[in-house]
Amino acid sequence: MQKISLNALALLLCACGTAAAQGYPSDPPKEEFKMRPEMTEFWEPQVRVVTPGNGTAAPSDAIVLLDGKDLSKWESAKDGSAPKWELKDGAMTVVRGTGDVRTKDKFGDFQLHIEWRAPEKVESQGQGRGNSGIFLQDRYELQVLDSYQSRTYSNGQAGSIYKQTPPLVNAMRKPGEWQVYDIIYTAPRFKEDGSVFSPARVTVLHNGVLIQNNFEIKGPTEYIGLPNYKAHSEAPIRLQDHGNPVSYRNIWIRKL
Ligand code: MG
Repeated sequence: MQKISLNALALLLCACGTAAAQGYPSDPPKEEFKMRPEMTEFWEPQVRVVTPGNGTAAPSDAIVLLDGKDLSKWESAKDGSAPKWELKDGAMTVVRGTGDVRTKDKFGDFQLHIEWRAPEKVESQGQGRGNSGIFLQDRYELQVLDSYQSRTYSNGQAGSIYKQTPPLVNAMRKPGEWQVYDIIYTAPRFKEDGSVFSPARVTVLHNGVLIQNNFEIKGPTEYIGLPNYKAHSEAPIRLQDHGNPVSYRNIWIRKL
């Protein structure tokens, strides 16, 4: 023990001697070593220019998934055929029983803008009222539901990550009015053995109000049972046919 201590003392003395020769850290720096403002600036790479859209219109680098003119960016999630949802007045509406639709393109990390509308005529309550859903990467459902003055389980209402977490607040407009989701999504990363390296994360604004703040998604959103990740790569955005005529419009996405 004593030998180690002596060695340590010798090292300390040596270090002190060196410091004395070079000047102590607390000495004022010599002029040539002083920090200048430009030492903490960098100019390359330059920041890419994006022209923002007017209001909720797509910015210049976005992929427009639905502009109300056609459904060319979408296909049936059942068999990849043309979607059977109705396109009318610039909006795409669920046709009951025709199944989910999904984008032809696949995505990893993204910013997604999507507008949706629950039917003005209220015909049911809870999960049967204006139910649809936005499946991020085909697996992780951000709930679409008419939760305006309508209760259901909290982690199943509009803006929930279905059965995983409720929205922070209920920012619903009335049924028949357009709702806006702005979604910032980070895809999960997987190790070579298929286990999770980092889970998916999502931030959501509902009508401009923060409702999900960098939430860590637990795995695919299940109706029954607990979520459990399975490795996957880039995947489509899928919209749910839950039997209610929910409409969508002005959908655009930016790859991150
Ligand atoms: Mg749903």
